[in-house]
Amino acid sequence: MMKISVRPLVEYVYRSGSIDNRFRTSSTLTDGTKAHQKIQKTYNEADQKEVFLKTEIECKQMTFVVEGRCDGLLALENELMIDEIKSTRGDLDEITADTYPVHWAQAKFYAYMYAREHEMNKMAVQLTYVQVDSDEKKSFQQQCSFDELDQFVQSVLEVFEPYARLLKNHREKRDQSIAVLKFPFENYREGQRKFAGAVYKTIADEAGLFANAPTGTGKTISTIFPTVKAIGEGLVQRFFYLTAKTITRKAAEETLGFMKGKGLHLSSVTITAKDKICFKEKTICQKDYCEFADGYYDRVNDGILDVLENETLMDRRTIEAYAMKHKLCPFEFSLDLAYTADAVIGDYNYIFDPRVSLKRFAEEQKKQTVLLIDEAHNLVDRARGMFSAELYKSVFLQVKRVFKGRNEGVVAKAKAVNDYLLKVKKACGVQESMVLDEFPEEFVEELRGFIEAAEKELVLQKDGDEQELLLEAYFTAQAFVRIVDLFDERFVTYVEYVKSEVRVKLFCLDPSHLLRKMGKGYRSKIYFSATLSPLSYFKDMLGADAEGDYTFSIPSPFASENAEVFIQPLSTRYRDREHSVNAIVKTFWDLLEKRPGNYLFFFPSYAYMRLVHEQFVEESDQDRGAEVAVDVLLQDGEMSEVEREEFLAEFREENEKSLAAFAVMGGIFSEGIDLKGDRLNGVVVVGVGLPQLSFERNIIKDYFNAEAKNGYDYAYVYPGMNKVLQAGGRLIRTEQDRGTIVLVDDRFLTPKYQKLLPAEWCDYRII
Ligand code: SF4
Repeated sequence: MMKISVRPLVEYVYRSGSIDNRFRTSSTLTDGTKAHQKIQKTYNEADQKEVFLKTEIECKQMTFVVEGRCDGLLALENELMIDEIKSTRGDLDEITADTYPVHWAQAKFYAYMYAREHEMNKMAVQLTYVQVDSDEKKSFQQQCSFDELDQFVQSVLEVFEPYARLLKNHREKRDQSIAVLKFPFENYREGQRKFAGAVYKTIADEAGLFANAPTGTGKTISTIFPTVKAIGEGLVQRFFYLTAKTITRKAAEETLGFMKGKGLHLSSVTITAKDKICFKEKTICQKDYCEFADGYYDRVNDGILDVLENETLMDRRTIEAYAMKHKLCPFEFSLDLAYTADAVIGDYNYIFDPRVSLKRFAEEQKKQTVLLIDEAHNLVDRARGMFSAELYKSVFLQVKRVFKGRNEGVVAKAKAVNDYLLKVKKACGVQESMVLDEFPEEFVEELRGFIEAAEKELVLQKDGDEQELLLEAYFTAQAFVRIVDLFDERFVTYVEYVKSEVRVKLFCLDPSHLLRKMGKGYRSKIYFSATLSPLSYFKDMLGADAEGDYTFSIPSPFASENAEVFIQPLSTRYRDREHSVNAIVKTFWDLLEKRPGNYLFFFPSYAYMRLVHEQFVEESDQDRGAEVAVDVLLQDGEMSEVEREEFLAEFREENEKSLAAFAVMGGIFSEGIDLKGDRLNGVVVVGVGLPQLSFERNIIKDYFNAEAKNGYDYAYVYPGMNKVLQAGGRLIRTEQDRGTIVLVDDRFLTPKYQKLLPAEWCDYRII
C-alpha cells in the first residue's frame, strides 16, 4: 500500500523538458491563494470549494491510497464539474488548452476519485487560469466518461508504479533495519543518553528543543539516532540535518555511514551549493548553454530510479556520478532526490531562506519531518542575512545610461530609482548613513515600476551584455521587493553612502518571528550547539515557543582538570591595543617556554593579530628564538581550501618544535576544527570577541533597548562571547585531551562575563 497526494503523483509522471532559468513571466504560475479565493467566491450556492477526496486504486498488484483537495466542485444543470484553478503573472493569451497537460491530469484525477466514490458514470473537468494582476480569467472544459477517467488514471499509475514500488520496498527494509538497530557505540557517553532521550521526547511530543550540548556529548549521533528511531516507529518519515558549514555536513554523513555499517538502511541526500557542484564553467542554466539542463526533466526519473535502486548514502560524489551517467544537472538532481530521501543534509537556507527554500513539501509531509539544526548559534546572523535585502544606486545609473536610445521606458524607470536614491543621499547631509523614519513606500513604488518596465524588455529574450546588466538589476529589485512583503516593526530601512555610491537596505533586526514562520508546520525543530549560551538569548532570537518548547543543557562530559585555565586581566579595548602588545607577546613566549607544544592564538581582528604577530616574530629572531624552538603560522584573510588544509596539517602530534598559530576569532579556524590529542596543547583568546562597533550593530542595540532588553548584550556581548567559547572550545575534544587556555582581557573578571563563562573554565588562575 502506498499513500500519495494527487499533485506530486502527476508532477512525477508529467515532468518533461529542460531546466531554463532565463527570464520569463508568461509561464510563471504562482500559488495565488488570493486569486483562488476570488474565483471561489464567484461560485453558486450549490457549488463546493476545497473538497477533500480520497480513494484506493489498484495497479499492478499495488494499492495506492490517493488523496487530494480539488479547488471546486460545481453543480451544473445536468452534471458535476471539477474546477482546477491555476494563477499566473503572465499573459493569458499564451495559455491554450494544451499548454499544461499536468493540470488536466490533476483535474482528471480528482474527477475520477469523485466519480468512483459517488458511482457517477461521467464528470466534467474545467481548468480555470487567472491572471493575478488583472483578475482576468480563462477556462477550458472537457467531458469525460467514467471509463475514460479510469483508463487515464491506470495509465498514469502504471508510469508511477516502479518508483512507488521502489519506495515501498525501501521503506519496509528501512523500518526493519531500524527496529533492530542498537545505539552504534558500545556505551553512551555521559550526558549522551539524556540528550538522545530529550530529542526523542521532543519528537514524540511534537515540540521544539533548544539544547546546549558541549563538545564531547556527541551531538551528531545524539540527535540522529533518536530521530532515526522515531522514523522506525512511524512517528515521522524524514529529517533534515541543517548546518552552517560543509565540515559539519561531513560529520553528519560520516555518522550515517557509520550507522549503515551497523545495519541501518536509510536513504540520505546531501545538497551542495549550486555554484560548487555545477558541471559547467558558469551556472547558466539554459538548454543552449548546458547539456545537463537540456532535456533534464525527460531523463530525471530514470536517474532517480537508478540511484535509489543502488545507493542509500547519496553524498556529493555519488550525486555527481549518477548525474553524469544520466546527463543531469547535479544540483537540480540533488533537490529532486531531497523530496524522496529519508534524510537530507544541507545548509540552513534550504528550509529558512524564503528565496531558496524547498517549496514542494506539502503541509502533510512537513508534519512528518524533523529539523535538526546544528551549530544553531550561527543561525541568528545567518537569518538576519536571509531576511534582509539591499541594493546599490550604481546598478540603476548604469542601466539608465546603457539603455539610452534602446528602451526609453526602462531608462525612465531606472532614472526614477536613481533619483530617489540621490534624494535620500542629500537628506543624509554630512552623515554617511541614516535610518529612515518611515518605510520608503515611494521608493518601493519606483522599484515596482522598474520591474514592470524591465520585464517588458527582458521578455524579448535578446542577447548581450546590456541584457545581463538589466537582468541583474531586475533580480536585485525583485529580491528587494520580496523582502518588502516581510517588512514589519522588526525591520528598519537604512541608507549609507560612500562618494557617489548609495546603498539602501531593508535590515531585519529580529529574525525570530520569520524563523518561526519558515519553520512552521514541521513536526519538531531541534536547535543545538556546543555554545547555545545564554540559552534565554538564543531561544528569544531563534523564535522559541515560550509555552511548548523544551530546553536542555548539560555540563561538559570532560573533567574540568583537563584544561588549565588562566585569565590575564589586560585591557584589549581598541584604544589600548598598542599598549597591550608587549604583555601579550610575553604571555605567548612564557607559555611556549614553560609548556612547549602546539598553540592557537586567537584575536578579535586581523589588524590586532598582525600587530602582535609582528612583535612576536621580531622577538623570535632575537633573544627568544635562541631559547625556544618555534614555528609560526599566520591566518590570511583569503585562504583557499588547500591553504586551509595546509595550515591545519602543521598541527602534528610529533612536531619537533612548538607551533604558534595566529588566527582570528569567528574565522575559519575558530569553529568546526577538531585538533585532537597533542595536535593542540593550548589556546589563547585575546579579547572578549565583541563585534566591531558598527552602524548596523548599533541599530540592533537600539532596537533591543527599545524592546526593554539589554541591547548592548544582544548586539555585542552575547555574539562576542560566543566567539570566545567557540575559540576556546577547540582545545579539549576528547576525554584524553589536556591543555591550557588563557583568556586575555580584564573584562573576563567582571560579573557580567563571569556569568557567561562555562562551568569548566571557572576554576581559573589569574596571571
Ligand atoms: S550543470 Fe550548472 S549550468 Fe547546468 S543546469 Fe546545472 S547548475 Fe545550471
